[in-house]
Amino acid sequence: MIINADLHIHSRYATATSDKMNIENISLEAPRKGIDVMATGDCLHNGWIKEIKTCNTIDDGTFEMNGTRFILSTEIEDRHRVHHLFYFPCFSAVEEFKEKIKHFSKNLETDGRPNVNLCGEDIASIAKDYDALVGPAHIFTPWTSMYAKHSSLSDCYGELTDYVSFVELGLSADSDYADKIKELHRLTFLTNSDCHSPHPVRLAREFNRFEVGDATFDEIKKAILRVGGNKPVLNVGLFPQEGKYNESACMSCHTHYVLEEAIRRRWKCRCGKKIKKGVRDRIEEKATYKEPVHPDHRPPYLHLIPLPEIITKAVKQHSPFTKTVTARWEELVLGFGNEIAVLLDADLDEIARATTPAIAEAIRAFREKKIRIVPGGGGRYGKIELPEEEKVLTVSLGPQDHQTSLLEY
Ligand SMILES: [Zn+2]
Ligand SMILES: [Zn+2]
Repeated sequence: MIINADLHIHSRYATATSDKMNIENISLEAPRKGIDVMATGDCLHNGWIKEIKTCNTIDDGTFEMNGTRFILSTEIEDRHRVHHLFYFPCFSAVEEFKEKIKHFSKNLETDGRPNVNLCGEDIASIAKDYDALVGPAHIFTPWTSMYAKHSSLSDCYGELTDYVSFVELGLSADSDYADKIKELHRLTFLTNSDCHSPHPVRLAREFNRFEVGDATFDEIKKAILRVGGNKPVLNVGLFPQEGKYNESACMSCHTHYVLEEAIRRRWKCRCGKKIKKGVRDRIEEKATYKEPVHPDHRPPYLHLIPLPEIITKAVKQHSPFTKTVTARWEELVLGFGNEIAVLLDADLDEIARATTPAIAEAIRAFREKKIRIVPGGGGRYGKIELPEEEKVLTVSLGPQDHQTSLLEY
């Protein structure tokens, strides 16, 4: 069977996370996005474990509520401030893993995403003892990722490098970016939302499609390891340009810079503040190849724009969180089953009958790849522009200032 899975989220017990991130809300929102399986996130936290235990048990490592399946996962920040993702086979593995790391953490019971004063190799070694899967989270982001702190997988995971089976690409990268780096070729790429809110613009904004025997932990593990015929068949995510750290840009005034210029300026913006290196440039530095070389096992990557963002633009709202956007989103999702159906599969004429002409046109533009992305950078998300706006906005701007000016629009 084919399943869609979002395998990195945070609960209401993690810092800077919405109160609405409780297990019931997540279980209700996932199917509206077209998602079958969620990773719980934060599974070392006692409060969250209690909530997970209110689900029905499918097997030792698989839980269910309102038709949504859950598998046990957490994210940990190591002593070098690198983030790692873990998937556990059962609660007893979670408990034993916790027991082993608790002396190295001060916030295990207070933050769903704990800090652990161990290096990547140590934590991976403990994970291996309990048959948990481990890999770097959002591997390219400039703050807390493996490539922000380490030159290579083995620099981070040492003897345990071969045990690492996946990498999470993060919002600002896709398979074309990552497959420029040879050491990543053997690994499964995961595309997850890392969301802190169940809002449809966040939850499952990235997800994985797997071929599995059943929607269970064991079968998903086999898909990540690509054994027994199980495998990832599609990575789905934002255009990398939509990410907050796609291009190198000033953290203060958000002026964008190409790599050469940032280096020439010693990463100092003309406003005096710091230029943060973007994921695109970090990958250029790390790249083994000029063009991506995909290994045979790599599935296609499908770029999506969350439907609430498309609606926001079409109905000229300032944010995807308004009542108008939510109402238009809900009527489409109710009509066609879930968001993926609306974005990819539903007949455009039927969509036109179910919503406003502007929204139907915007969905058509998305399918025809006519939506333009203004790249993000310096901590600011990229923006989408519908075709007719583009004409107005791109008049007589040089290629360099172009992006900056559009961002300030
Ligand atoms: Zn993280
Ligand atoms: Zn600046």
